[in-house]
Amino acid sequence: MMQRWTSQLSLILEIMYETEHFLSAEQLHDIIKDKDADVGIATVYRNLKKMVGQGLISEVDWNNVKYYTKHPFSNAFFVCERCGKMLRVDVPIADQNYLSDETGMKINRWKMRFEGICKECEKCI
Ligand SMILES: [Zn+2]
Repeated sequence: MMQRWTSQLSLILEIMYETEHFLSAEQLHDIIKDKDADVGIATVYRNLKKMVGQGLISEVDWNNVKYYTKHPFSNAFFVCERCGKMLRVDVPIADQNYLSDETGMKINRWKMRFEGICKECEKCI
């Protein structure tokens, strides 16, 4: 059994930092259940929303489902065309400033999606 944890928020954050994958609220809820913690899906949604608002995690939309990851500065992600796995990708975002200076547009956020074949699937081809 899992020991008492101080807050649901810290449990969710802990899980987020343990995985490199993007997680949906449902996937996160399953992991919480595996840890023998009793947290309802509504609470998971509420905490995720709060954490996105605080900049602790970032959120991306994919096929009308919201996915979450620990990295607060990068919205770049990779989707495997075979297994559908989503992975966080760290790419430099310095060009954001260049774009602002060059065009006068104020950039609030950016999203970048890479698609291809993940390492595991590549091995099976
Ligand atoms: Zn794959």
